[in-house]
Amino acid sequence: MKQSIYGLTMEQLTEWLLENGQKKYRAQQVWDWLYKKRVTNFSDMKNINKDCLELLEDHFEIELLKESIKQESADGTIKFLFELPDGNLIETVLMSFSYGLSVCVTTQVGCNIGCSFCASGILRKSRDLNSGEIVGQIMKVQHFLDARGKDERVSHIVVMGIGEPFDNYINLMNFLHVVNNPKGLAIGARHITVSTSGLAQKIREFADEELQVNLALSLHAPNDELRTQIMKINKAFPIEKLMAALDYYLEKNNRRVTIEYILLKDVNDHEKEALELAKLLHNKRHLTYVNLIPYNPVNEHIQYERSEKKSILAFYDTLKKKGIQCGIRHEQGTDIDAACGQLRSKQIKKTKSV
Ligand code: SAH
Ligand code: SF4
Repeated sequence: MKQSIYGLTMEQLTEWLLENGQKKYRAQQVWDWLYKKRVTNFSDMKNINKDCLELLEDHFEIELLKESIKQESADGTIKFLFELPDGNLIETVLMSFSYGLSVCVTTQVGCNIGCSFCASGILRKSRDLNSGEIVGQIMKVQHFLDARGKDERVSHIVVMGIGEPFDNYINLMNFLHVVNNPKGLAIGARHITVSTSGLAQKIREFADEELQVNLALSLHAPNDELRTQIMKINKAFPIEKLMAALDYYLEKNNRRVTIEYILLKDVNDHEKEALELAKLLHNKRHLTYVNLIPYNPVNEHIQYERSEKKSILAFYDTLKKKGIQCGIRHEQGTDIDAACGQLRSKQIKKTKSV
């Protein structure tokens, strides 16, 4: 099967063209057509000679994703279900904020980490997405915006869709290099956030890249007993290892890390956990920001409920009083299954029951 040309970094495309007897400057021309003029057919690339076009057509596709479902929420959030060439379904979400338009991308078909509260972990990972399929999600959304005709651009990216991005590291890095490159989409590294469930050695590897991309760590509990109960990955990477990896990252990058904390009613939302969390983060409180996430109920996980508003506010107050920077995530698109993996898992169940 042909691969998507979106998966190639500028360096890889340049190298490929040179190896195939083409001139180096063609790479920038092709990228202008892909990312500035945003055509979806090689034949529309007007200043590229026939030889080169045929070569590209023989080896690459441009757009591989097909829109299967699009749901629009009252708050402007749009959720796309895309079909991959092999028939697998993935989710991509477009959110509108005062600071710009943000896209949440998927990195794997399913997820093997299997967190007990997450809809994506129910179906095990069937495969990694390649970098072309990850960039392709941004391009499908950008093409949708282009067609809307309001001169809108995707300005922010969060890698928080289905999958564990650090379990698909090389494709993630290629994706980041493509979207961030000033010669293409030019989405600023500081406008991109990668969220991980905490693969400690990959956090260190990511630190070594010294990119300006933001890191978010899904912590969700302040001690090993509780964290292992809700995230079994904690057995492999317990909190002490995570905190050491985080210290390493902070030393190398000096960039503020987001700590994600889902609030599950009567599970991890007491004052005790807020105090424990404050203690855990005390020595890095100037370089961390806790994002308190009201849990989005998932049908398959009836053991969990969203914390009550007063518990959420009390948790926030306790952290603040202890000098921890924090905020409560404003929810988007709850009316359209916007929690990660929900639309996909619903759709797969429907298909299976037919
Ligand atoms: N695998 C990565 C990135 C994808 S999940 C990770 O776990 O960080 C992105 C975020 O959504 C994580 O913080 C995850 O814990 C959170 N999440 C998953 N299911 C959720 C739900 N039902 N309600 C609220 N947040 C959820
Ligand atoms: Fe995978 Fe993240 Fe969901 Fe955990 S929360 S199952 S790591 S997608």
